Amino acid sequence: MANRVLFNRLALIGVGLIGSSIARAARAQGVVRSIVATARSAATRRRALELGLADQVVETNAAAVESADLVIVCIPVGQSGAAAKEIGPHLARGAILSDVGSVKSAVLRDMAPHVPAGIHLVPAHPVAGTEHSGPDAGFAELFVNRWCILTPPPAADPTAVERLATFWRTLGANVETMSAEHHDLVLAMTSHLPHLIAYTIVGTAADLSEVTRSEVLKFSAGGFRDFTRIAASDPTMWRDVFLANKDAVLEILGRFNEDVATLTRAIRRGDGDKLFELFTRTRAIRRGIVDLGQDSPVADFGRAHASLAMPPIPRPYAGDSE
Ligand code: NAP
Repeated sequence: MANRVLFNRLALIGVGLIGSSIARAARAQGVVRSIVATARSAATRRRALELGLADQVVETNAAAVESADLVIVCIPVGQSGAAAKEIGPHLARGAILSDVGSVKSAVLRDMAPHVPAGIHLVPAHPVAGTEHSGPDAGFAELFVNRWCILTPPPAADPTAVERLATFWRTLGANVETMSAEHHDLVLAMTSHLPHLIAYTIVGTAADLSEVTRSEVLKFSAGGFRDFTRIAASDPTMWRDVFLANKDAVLEILGRFNEDVATLTRAIRRGDGDKLFELFTRTRAIRRGIVDLGQDSPVADFGRAHASLAMPPIPRPYAGDSE
């Protein structure tokens, strides 16, 4: 039997990696009757049509949300306030308005003032992604076995929150709910700081004059290669993330800098015990992540590998018969 239809009309504002993955997964699961999409540029809107991501592709954000009962804003977080202002007057009464931004306090702060009474604002962050962008980069399995964190404001309607949670579960995600502030602190540690480190390392390597560019590329297998993948992530998205999550990132960065100073001292003093003790603890953390199913134990995760099959999106699919 096909999945229960959860929403009549899904509006996607932005059809890049995340928006187009939602479109593909929602369609495959049959959880929405129809999808309407839009994007900033005519080129992306045209591509969305060619790929068949939506039943209808419209020119403006305002037109997209008319009569949609679920609206998901899938654009860089720095744009979310302006987008909310644009769509606010056009939202259908009773609709759920959500997003996918990687930062939550700033999104809530910027969107909430433009949300009329009778609309349920429930921000969300699917913790899933790749370093690729645009409508061609998306795929229906992106959210399978990944977390989707909902950060409803305290006064949010529990029924609306549960409907959105069910939507994300149907796309294959595990759902967790927390405050926007807590989300931003957790993600500053688990996602934003690692990206900052990757951007820094790759930038430093690029600036080193005594190591030529070709040597950096040629010998990149020694750990550097993994950083280059992360540092290839979308510049607009990540600029917005650091600007929007400034306080939490600075807090975690302060702690990180202290730890780097401690390690620097250990290396300078030849304190092998200190290094060994830390590396033993970090190895245990890696094992814990694999045990939780958040990564594969196979080496070279992230690249094509025979033993890393793409997980199927949960059955039944929309076309399945009883
Ligand atoms: P993306 O691939 O670059 O796509 C962004 C989309 O938003 C494009 O379709 C773009 O249209 C459209 N857009 C930008 N500004 C717009 C505006 N003002 N009005 C309407 N459409 C607009 O980005 P993404 O990776 O999907 O990221 C989208 C959001 O998901 C971000 O907030 C990011 O923080 C969050 N997120 C990303 C990841 C990840 O790994 N990438 C993971 C989790 C969450 P044009 O192509 O015409 O410019």
